[in-house]
Formats: sequence, C-alpha cells, structure tokens
Amino acid sequence: MQKDQLLIRRRAVLAGAAALGAAGVASALAPGTGERAAPASAPAAGAPAARRPLKPSEYRLRPLTGYDAPPSTPGRTPVRREPLLRLSGRGRTMVLTFDDGPDPRYTPDILDTLARYETRAMFFVCGEMAAENPDLLARMADEGHVVGNHTWSHPLLTALGRRRIRTEMERTSDVIEKAHGSRPEWFRAPYGAWNRAAFRLGAELGMEPLAWTVDTLDWTTPGTRTIVGRVADGAAPGVVVLSHDAGGERSQSVRALRRYLPALLDSGYHVTVPRRQYV
Ligand SMILES: [Zn+2]
Repeated sequence: MQKDQLLIRRRAVLAGAAALGAAGVASALAPGTGERAAPASAPAAGAPAARRPLKPSEYRLRPLTGYDAPPSTPGRTPVRREPLLRLSGRGRTMVLTFDDGPDPRYTPDILDTLARYETRAMFFVCGEMAAENPDLLARMADEGHVVGNHTWSHPLLTALGRRRIRTEMERTSDVIEKAHGSRPEWFRAPYGAWNRAAFRLGAELGMEPLAWTVDTLDWTTPGTRTIVGRVADGAAPGVVVLSHDAGGERSQSVRALRRYLPALLDSGYHVTVPRRQYV
C-alpha cells in the first residue's frame, strides 16, 4: 500500500475513534504522560478479538468506579484481574510491541528501523531466547527500548501449576535483569492466556500485565502489505500493536515495520513506550 493510501485510511480510522467519545478512549495503562493506570477488558486467548476498539456499549457494562489500581504503597504492583489493553489519556500516542524474541535473524533489523526514526518500542522476550542473545538485550537497553517478560519457554500458562508458572516468569526476569540491566516491569502471557496465578505472580515480581489492542497476526505470514494494512486500519490514539520478531519466519514483520512506522509518524503519531505509574 502506498503511504498516501495509508494516511487516508488512517484519517477514516481516526474519525471512527473520535466518534466513540470520551468513554470510548478512556482506559488502560498510563503512557509517559502521568495519567493513571486502569484495567481494561481481557482479550480471548490468541485473540483476534482484541483487534478492534471496544464499542461504547461494552464500556458501559463496566462499573463506574474501581478502575484504578488498588491502593498500594510505592513500589508495590497491584494484582489485576485483566491485562491492560491500551494507553489511556489524550494525544496520538501508540505503542509497538514485538514478542517471542530476541532472534538474531530479525531483531537487529527491527532495532535498526526503530533507530532510524528515533522511536522506542517494547520487546516481550522469552527467557530462553534472551539467554542466548544477551547482546541484543543490551542493545535494547542502550537504545531506550522497554523489555518485558514473555515467560521462559512460551507455554500456555493456564495449563500449568503455580510452581511452574513462577519458574517460567522468575527465571525470565532474572535473565532480563542480567542482560538488560533492570528487572522487567511488564509481562505478557503467551497466547494472551492469563489466569489468576499469572496475575498474582506477575504482581509479586513487580510486573504489570500488558496485552494489546491491534493484533497484526504477522505470525500467519499473511504478506507484508496485509500487515501494514492491519496496522493502518487499527491505528488510533492509545493503541498497542502486537507483532513478532521471533518464533518463525519474520521477514514480513521486519519489512512491514519499515513501511508502517514512517507512515504512523507522518500521520502525527507519537510512537513511544509506556511508563509505569503507581496511584
Ligand atoms: Zn508469544
């Protein structure tokens, strides 16, 4: 798709997002702007359903109070019941996330593109990949990217007992700390499949659960143009985009980023990483 076409589609999406009104765009996590964090709805496991923004009626089904994190002392992470799905607040801010890596075949290309446009992103890494590629985590740290915990071996957490979930998460935080320099503050369950134990252990380890708003489904290798189109269709203020830099053949994901990132920036989006807020 040409860039102008992308921009035109973009505007149409923005008009749709505006029509949702204030309630439609409220929710989720705080970007680096000081807004409060609040939980949003969980995606289904594997979750194409998370691609579109929620309809206003779905927001109305939620209670009007109780969005905010439970009272917590500074440095303590609340135990959530749902993952965060998008950025809250105003402004044309989006977050790009890359899962399952790092993979030396694809991650350096993605880092190069992000660097070219001076853009930061999030990488939800698997411990076993991180342990093999600590240099890539060090580069992510140098270039200001946020590294999140995506478990050690990418299992379906809902099929595991507490002890195994803890090992999967704890080992991964340890290897991230060693290679990246700090412990992760975010985690994402493989397949978007969270359970209560995962929320509790994540909080215990100081991590907030982050899902996504737009799934590029890049792992199905649908073609670079389709991936670019999915980002264009889904782009809106507060959107979190899911792609992959590992776990299979990912050259389409690499090429797609080279096209949709400059297009998003040209459309006036601020592509950034979220900042943790305690309330
Ligand atoms: Zn994954």
